Amino acid sequence: MKLNLKQTFTEELPADSVLENSRRQVKEACFSFVNPKQTKNPETLHVSKEMATALGISESDLSSELFTKVFTGNELLPKTRPYAMCYGGHQFGNWAGQLGDGRAINLFDVENNNKQWTVQLKGAGETPYSRSADGLAVLRSSIREYLCSEAMFHLNVPTTRALSLAISGDEVLRDMLYDGNSANEKGAIVSRVSPSFLRFGSYEIFAARQDHKTLKTLVDFTIKHHFSHLGAPSKENYIKFFAEVSERTLEMIIHWQRVGFVHGVMNTDNMSILGLTIDYGPYGWLEGFDFGWTPNTTDIQHKRYRYGNQPNIGLWNLYQLANALYPLIEETEPLETILDRYKTDFELKSLEMMKSKLGLETIDDKDHLLIEALENALILTETDMTIFFRNLSNHKKGGAKQGVNTVKDAFYTPNEVSDKIAQQWQDWFERYDFRLEKESLSDKDRQSKMKTVNPKYVLRNYMAQLAIDDANKGDYKLIDELYQLLKQPYEEQLNMEKWFAKRPDWARHKVGCSMLSCSS
Ligand code: AMP
Ligand code: MG
Repeated sequence: MKLNLKQTFTEELPADSVLENSRRQVKEACFSFVNPKQTKNPETLHVSKEMATALGISESDLSSELFTKVFTGNELLPKTRPYAMCYGGHQFGNWAGQLGDGRAINLFDVENNNKQWTVQLKGAGETPYSRSADGLAVLRSSIREYLCSEAMFHLNVPTTRALSLAISGDEVLRDMLYDGNSANEKGAIVSRVSPSFLRFGSYEIFAARQDHKTLKTLVDFTIKHHFSHLGAPSKENYIKFFAEVSERTLEMIIHWQRVGFVHGVMNTDNMSILGLTIDYGPYGWLEGFDFGWTPNTTDIQHKRYRYGNQPNIGLWNLYQLANALYPLIEETEPLETILDRYKTDFELKSLEMMKSKLGLETIDDKDHLLIEALENALILTETDMTIFFRNLSNHKKGGAKQGVNTVKDAFYTPNEVSDKIAQQWQDWFERYDFRLEKESLSDKDRQSKMKTVNPKYVLRNYMAQLAIDDANKGDYKLIDELYQLLKQPYEEQLNMEKWFAKRPDWARHKVGCSMLSCSS
């Protein structure tokens, strides 16, 4: 395997001087050297060929034994030194102290086609940051991370990527529901890829420890390698850096809102400094449109990470990052201005995004009211978000009377759609028709445009669960079927219509299909 390997992170940033792999507080260092665990019988289940090509891995490398060994941590490429990163974080609103890569181990950086990537294994064994856990991952959560990160990429949502999914051959003990019933599950390893795995918590940890020297070293490194267009590190550029992180974070969350993705654990250790979706855990996809929905069982009481709250949490997390960067800037005003701008930008971008979902291009100062009315209509009866918006693109200007018919496939209980509800929908469609009069696009052109932002296929919670159930029985075909399907989420794929369907009834309350625990 001939890769253009780099070790930028470990060569330029301070390392933990202790080499022993024991759990501890690691001070004044950005990472600890640590080797992945040897596993019993590693087997690659799936690879992302696009990602392999991006890294410069050839077709013949992919099928080699070396590939499986390297991307499960069983063999190291010459001259590479794996490491786990040190970071902290706010979890569910509280400072949690040192967290770090408890089960992620970075293998190396690769430069290819003028892009640099870090390759990281998730589930490759314990590190100094593993705290009381085992450093391992199970097959179900690894399938979910693998499929979803690639699906998000093809939906045009900023995200970390995945290169491969493998089983380790070892068993891993998990209490899936946190109810005292532990069971052995298949261990698995995902190799993930990103230009950087730095998180808000990577900076917070040094600010919390008042280690301003390492904080500055890390921020300067980040600007040099990932925000080099801002110029050399300076107080002014630290402010610009924060402004850009804020913009990227908002942009990412607006995309989540557009496709109905709910991250589930937006702790600051799960917020990428590059504004990429990272750490796919108990995430979920909206089925019935509902601002109050959270997929995470740990979050059920306060619903902090519910769909409708994601933009607010993005802002809350940026406040924590602002606090962490403050020692380098020593002025609150520019940071506050940026945070205020997030709020106004959110209003603007959210409106723009919703207008694109409705196929509206011109400006009308009452558009926010039309959208508000739509959001109210969507909760009259349980209405599938993906199917609703996709089918809305079939609407013909002036056809308000047909409106309910156009979108009725999105209703979970069509029999319970009373005359009153039907009338409310017709009222909304009449407003929509009136508004469409201002638009110049033909029905056909509007439909084509709407189909580029309203996906036909998303990784519904039950779809991932079907792939998991099969995989636990040793059948991995569905992983590939879903992977292929989700490579073209905006295209009509006629032989795949079965995945353009509401969540089946059996999945409504099934574990993994409606709610997920953090146990992974
Ligand atoms: P998460 O909320 O899954 O992003 O994880 C929060 C923290 O817990 C991170 O520092 C993870 O590395 C760590 N963690 C989660 N699961 C494990 C595990 N099985 N072994 C070790 N550390 C873990
Ligand atoms: Mg995490």
